[in-house]
Amino acid sequence: MSGFKKFVARHAIPDVAPDIRDEFVIHAAGEVQKNARWLFFLLFLTTPLAMFAGNPDVPWMVRVGMPIAMGAYCLLGFVMLSRRIDFSARPKVAAHYVVDSAISSCFGAVICSSWCVLSWLYAPADDRLQFPIILVMGALATAYCLANVRIGAIANLVIDLLPISLLLVTSGRTLDFAAGCSLLFAGLFQWRMINAHQRHVLDLLQLKKQNRTLALTDPLTGLLNRRALQDFADALGDDREPARLLLIDIDRFKTINDAHGHDMGDEVLVRVAQIIDGFSGNNVSAARLGGEEFALLGSNADLPPATALQLLAAVREADMPHGQQVTISVGIAEGMLNYEDGWQRLYTDADMALYEAKNTGRNRFCHIKEIDEGQPRRRGEDLPAPSAAA
Ligand code: GH3
Ligand code: MG
Ligand code: MG
Repeated sequence: MSGFKKFVARHAIPDVAPDIRDEFVIHAAGEVQKNARWLFFLLFLTTPLAMFAGNPDVPWMVRVGMPIAMGAYCLLGFVMLSRRIDFSARPKVAAHYVVDSAISSCFGAVICSSWCVLSWLYAPADDRLQFPIILVMGALATAYCLANVRIGAIANLVIDLLPISLLLVTSGRTLDFAAGCSLLFAGLFQWRMINAHQRHVLDLLQLKKQNRTLALTDPLTGLLNRRALQDFADALGDDREPARLLLIDIDRFKTINDAHGHDMGDEVLVRVAQIIDGFSGNNVSAARLGGEEFALLGSNADLPPATALQLLAAVREADMPHGQQVTISVGIAEGMLNYEDGWQRLYTDADMALYEAKNTGRNRFCHIKEIDEGQPRRRGEDLPAPSAAA
């Protein structure tokens, strides 16, 4: 983007929290695209009327030439906007669109404002009040259409309304003075409405973001919840990546609750969640599925089976809030997620493997393949038995 465009972008796209900035830009571009085509069409319809209303004392270039220029500009805009752009997930495209809308709308405003001011200056004093009236309709409609692109809307208001309002209030005629003042008031009020509109949109986007976070996050540990993990599984399925799931369950967790209380149990859950989250990353997500059951899901390439062993050791060796050792059991399975019950099958397989790990003594992992192939149940390694931490 050029320096000027960057300046416009800075003011058209407000300084909002980065997590809703993209959504704001996509929303703004979508709204402009939705409304601008019809605005161009309606402004195009008014240009012959403006020509017709022109006073014969006004030079031909202003009376006819400028409305023709405006008509051509509107027609061009109408045709160009007939190709719909999909902005979803394309914030950069949306940002360019927003900036271009703000800048190009100012060209239209300059033509309209010049037409109005020149017509006013050339027409006899008793026969010129219709020009500001025609202008103000288009100016307010354009500003409203650009309400999501604040700098564009405000620039249009200033370019369209300020020069003619100043002429009106300084003409020395009472009626002109009243009309000029009411134009200024209307412009200022519209300005205020545009600011309020932007705040309202930002609040709504923030709220939407918070709701989505709440809906997808486990409140105790901050990990993804079951629903969010399923969304992540869908995304892995879309990528046609083979996926690996590690289902993780804390061993004998109930005894921690019983011995130390539910609040201490919660602290242990948070600590274990932190350790599990340490294994998440690019293409690997950690989730709490409920109670003391967690999951790590990722592509086969990004989540190697050796993670299970590292995780077992990390939990076993970690200092826990209640001062005692905690162990986990892990069930591992792989599968493709790009067909209908892919996730369900993967989950069932990992759950069977977890069940096996529990049944064969806990503090270990089990791989679904070992069950499928009827191989002797294998220990993850020679694991030390759970014991109280020193
Ligand atoms: P196992 O080794 O077979 O998994 O035994 P376990 O005791 O870990 O499993 P069990 O299913 O018998 O008990 C799970 C306990 O987890 C029971 C429940 O009270 C507790 N629990 C579930 N959700 C929470 C929670 O959010 N906070 C706390 N503190 N406890 C929870
Ligand atoms: Mg358990
Ligand atoms: Mg459990």
